Amino acid sequence: MKRILVTGGAGFVGSHLCERLLNEGNEVISLDNYFTGQKRNIEHLMDNHYFEVIRHDVTMPFFIEVDEIYNLACPASPIHYQYNPIKTVKTSVMGAINMLGLAKRIKAKILQASTSEVYGDPKVHPQTEDYWGHVNPIGTRSCYDEGKRVAETLFTNYHTQNNVRIKIIRIFNTYGPRMHPNDGRVVSNFIVQALKGENITVYGEGNQTRSFQYVDDLLNGMIKTMTTGDDFTGPVNIGNPGEFTILELAQKVIDFTGSKSKIVFEDLPSDDPMQRKPDITLAKSKLNWEPVIKLDTGLMKTIEYFDKLLGEDKQY
Ligand code: NAD
Ligand code: UDP
Repeated sequence: MKRILVTGGAGFVGSHLCERLLNEGNEVISLDNYFTGQKRNIEHLMDNHYFEVIRHDVTMPFFIEVDEIYNLACPASPIHYQYNPIKTVKTSVMGAINMLGLAKRIKAKILQASTSEVYGDPKVHPQTEDYWGHVNPIGTRSCYDEGKRVAETLFTNYHTQNNVRIKIIRIFNTYGPRMHPNDGRVVSNFIVQALKGENITVYGEGNQTRSFQYVDDLLNGMIKTMTTGDDFTGPVNIGNPGEFTILELAQKVIDFTGSKSKIVFEDLPSDDPMQRKPDITLAKSKLNWEPVIKLDTGLMKTIEYFDKLLGEDKQY
């Protein structure tokens, strides 16, 4: 049994990760400040004696004895990370420094949840790990993109300078149950709009692309990365190479929900990447990992979740 700290443990991905690690027989500590996470995401785990919950902000130092740290704390949806951009940078950068300092002191292995956003609006397609990216350092997305890029720098430097055992994964757009219904990301937005019979808001002309990964595939990739030998640090892309336009996604959601919603076109946010698709050659060879859940299957599971959630008529 390992003791594992998950920062951002009450968020969408973090809550699934806590559950999976507990099911695999580990002791798990969730650390979260509940900025975008919710206690209801982890309330079903509260009876488990091997699960512990701590309210804490990663921008402040923290001490605990654990074997592994998964550093997920950071708002991930553009509307949330742009709400307080200075705080977003602090969370990525000071959070990384605090967690790396902890890992160094207690000799824990530490994994950083980095992002495909480090590639910005990419000029190389599909994106390989050796591509340096095309990021606007002063744009609306830069608090997130540059914060995550500095976090990768810090991870790399703590590894080379202090021998901290690091892993960096670059996560591509991930969706699934427990996304916040109002968090503004495209999959949750479209599903909630379709289920409520509201207009489906496609930004721009909808010909920008994304590659959507179901959360279970991400968890497999994350845990496999953490269990690699110390010589493998990444960064490694973890995403589903299936590439779809936003308009194709909207149509799928309408078809699968049987909704009468109409597609409407709204302004494209600034610096919105035009295309995104992971090259997963490295993950296949180093981790023996590739995603197995097709977009149609994952969307059906996610629609089922939101249908039930909205039916419960709770306030979010
Ligand atoms: P999320 O917003 O649901 O989860 C983030 C969690 O971090 C929340 O529980 C939030 O309350 C917590 N948090 C935020 N700031 C904090 C702080 N200062 N101190 C402590 N806790 C804090 O987002 P998610 O989709 O679950 O993403 C999890 C991680 O994966 C993030 O680091 C994100 O950047 C990364 N990621 C996610 C995706 C995706 O598509 N979901 C893609 C790329 C990278
Ligand atoms: N998007 C959209 N309508 C929405 C929400 C998002 O057309 O209601 C678009 C957005 O402009 C982007 C894509 O969907 O091109 C993915 O957006 P999301 O915020 O989910 O993730 P990210 O842009 O960070 O990849």
